[in-house]
Amino acid sequence: MESLSNRKQVVSKKEMTFMEKIYLPAILGGMWITFKHLFRKNNTTKYPEEVREFAPVYRGQHVLKRDEQGRENCTACGLCAVACPAEAITMVSEERKKGEEHLYREEKYASTYEINMLRCIFCGLCEEACPKEAIFLTDRIVPSNFERGEFVFGKDKLVESVEERIDITKRQHTGKRGTK
Ligand code: SF4
Ligand code: SF4
Repeated sequence: MESLSNRKQVVSKKEMTFMEKIYLPAILGGMWITFKHLFRKNNTTKYPEEVREFAPVYRGQHVLKRDEQGRENCTACGLCAVACPAEAITMVSEERKKGEEHLYREEKYASTYEINMLRCIFCGLCEEACPKEAIFLTDRIVPSNFERGEFVFGKDKLVESVEERIDITKRQHTGKRGTK
């Protein structure tokens, strides 16, 4: 009968040859492949002694950035939370009070900002959505833990410290700064 796809194959049940019947050549062939691998370069990375180099755009643990004067960039607009497909971000916004200008760059700030790292899929959409260059994903790995509650990262873990800034220059797109 004609095949509509023209991909029909006839399966033949042909007799095995003498060499196929004794299996020895196939066994030797398999052993030869194994032997060749003994002298190949080992691709295993012995973590944690050896650490593989990450791509500059690797998406790991988030950082909430401060500006040059040490003030928090985040204005609690909520765009990152709206953009997050995993609904991993929650925040509480507050008005900046008089005398807090040195703490928060904008008139509104996040008094609470949390990311549930167990929900996060590290897609980077929060970073893309942020109009204030406040949130970035970094090359840091989220540490393991036995307690689920420990994976809800608050501002204490997310906001960078004034003394130890986290370099995210490689993650900033050209031309983005001028628009924010
Ligand atoms: S990286 Fe993606 S999943 Fe994780 S918090 Fe940001 S938007 Fe949500
Ligand atoms: S991190 Fe950016 S997008 Fe998210 S609330 Fe703060 S300013 Fe808005």
